[in-house]
Amino acid sequence: MPATIAVTPYEQELDPQMHDHHDHDDATYDLLVVGSANADLVIGVERRPAPGETVLGSDLATHPGGKGANQSVAAARLGARTALLARVDDDAHGRLLLDSQRAAGADTVGVLVGGAPTGVALITVDPSGDNSIVVSPGANARLTPEDIRAAGSLLAASRVVSTQLEIPVETVTELVRTLPAATRFVLNPSPPAPLPPEVLAACDPLVVNEHEARYILGDDVSAADSPADWARALLALGPRSVVITLGAEGALTADGGGSPVTVPSPKVDAVDTTGAGDAFTAALAWRIGLGDDLPTAAAYAARVGAASVTRQGAQESYPTADEVPAQEE
Ligand code: ADP
Repeated sequence: MPATIAVTPYEQELDPQMHDHHDHDDATYDLLVVGSANADLVIGVERRPAPGETVLGSDLATHPGGKGANQSVAAARLGARTALLARVDDDAHGRLLLDSQRAAGADTVGVLVGGAPTGVALITVDPSGDNSIVVSPGANARLTPEDIRAAGSLLAASRVVSTQLEIPVETVTELVRTLPAATRFVLNPSPPAPLPPEVLAACDPLVVNEHEARYILGDDVSAADSPADWARALLALGPRSVVITLGAEGALTADGGGSPVTVPSPKVDAVDTTGAGDAFTAALAWRIGLGDDLPTAAAYAARVGAASVTRQGAQESYPTADEVPAQEE
């Protein structure tokens, strides 16, 4: 018998005490992730079909994914008290996604159900490891500004709120308008899209990889500029702080007070970088909520990102706290 998904208004399931919180020392959640949840459907192929052609591929592998769901699992596995605000359908993929959240220890009270089929990414991988991906946003596209307004108590119960752009930009905009002043806002603008100035201004930090930094800076970035120059240029667009991830090179942080700071990533044997940025951002968001300064949080997040690339997959690759490699001297 298939499990059913309970559709529960936030107020009924959440601890009623949370409405009395006026500071964040006793917040219910260290991190609330607002974002996407997708089933990743992966088939290995010798080569991609031409139009009109059919090719045979490997057995289908189905993985829980989507940047929001990934971030939530990453933080929860590290031990953060984490909740996910997302939208799925009451279908097999929705159940898979809820199960993976619960297995990681994330609270699914904010996962809304219905509106469209659960988001799906159809992924083909060829022998060289190159991906071709078609995403059907499905229920993710139906996470609305109204859903954000209805989640006020969940937002108020969280130290940090982290999001990405696999949900509508209007929903992200409503989120920054609705956030309590004491709640820190972290945005990874992925996939890149034009951002309203009020969203950029709320970011503390804006977390980007090189590709996203180049997209946002557009003509302002020249190939000769260094990541520190990009960070300064990004800060000039309004965010309170900026973190640029640099793959194996680690990350760079900047907050306007003093020079940008580079933090290293441990040297590891990378086997699959899928979802590394999501693990990095989740770890960073969690640690700044606990009071780490930005370089300290980024150094920890880089170690989490490095651990995640040593294993296959996205959520399946995320470390628990004791699997995070030690800081290198
Ligand atoms: P994205 O996945 O968004 O492109 P990055 O590739 O910059 O982001 O990776 C995010 C973080 O994961 C990096 O800041 C780093 O800490 C870690 N990481 C990624 N690739 C490697 C690698 N090959 N070796 C060590 N750490 C890595």
